[in-house]
Amino acid sequence: MAEIALKHVGKTYGNLPVLSDISLDMEDGEFVVLVGPSGCGKSTLLRMIAGLEDITAGQITIGGKVVNNMPAKERDLAMVFQSYALYPHMKVADNMSFALKLAGAPKAEVRQRVADAARILGLENLLDRLPRELSGGQRQRVAMGRAIVRNPRAFLFDEPLSNLDAKLRVKMRAEIKALHQRLGKTTVFVTHDQTEAMTMADKIVVLNGGNIEQSGPPLELYANPRNLFVAGFIGSPE
Ligand code: ADP
Ligand code: MG
Repeated sequence: MAEIALKHVGKTYGNLPVLSDISLDMEDGEFVVLVGPSGCGKSTLLRMIAGLEDITAGQITIGGKVVNNMPAKERDLAMVFQSYALYPHMKVADNMSFALKLAGAPKAEVRQRVADAARILGLENLLDRLPRELSGGQRQRVAMGRAIVRNPRAFLFDEPLSNLDAKLRVKMRAEIKALHQRLGKTTVFVTHDQTEAMTMADKIVVLNGGNIEQSGPPLELYANPRNLFVAGFIGSPE
């Protein structure tokens, strides 16, 4: 059974059709990369999985359960955004613990989970800093830390690296992959960067104009692109 399954999912904003008929299985522990040009509906799809956006057709299941009408906070997913969305007035430790505290987790457990996440992400010495006192890469790590402490069933990333410079982006790709290997959680990663998709994905899903052009392992799409769009968009593996 797929961990996250989309069945004939569609989305229109008012009269504007954005996604037409998306069917896709994401397996437990799989690293799935949604790639496609700007405006093709990647963020919309991710937000529908997260429950931050209504779906206008079809069905989404998580762990076999239909979630179409389930509020975001009950879906047990953690989302990491491009803009980090850190609370500017809170120290790193508080940014990471905020959601857990809100959910009523015991103090000792919160402390332990923040300490574990900080160790995994190399944030141990930054816990007392404010976001403005951090570099871009450090802020991105805090955003990931905030997701990890919740121990969600899956991670959703929306272009988390596009604000970083090229060198740091390559480093963070490796960090996110290492994290995925360590935690083994289903991950849906959105990007418009073909290289990012090729180097990170177990499965690439190429979106264009509201449809899936093709999905499969990177090398399969590279070797056997179904059409010119996929061939042109995928480019070459590194
Ligand atoms: P991507 O993330 O691939 O760049 P988006 O999912 O953000 O694409 O957007 C897909 C399309 O839906 C775009 O045409 C965008 O303008 C439109 N769109 C996105 N969000 C909204 C919204 N809240 N209301 C109306 N149109 C939207
Ligand atoms: Mg987007």
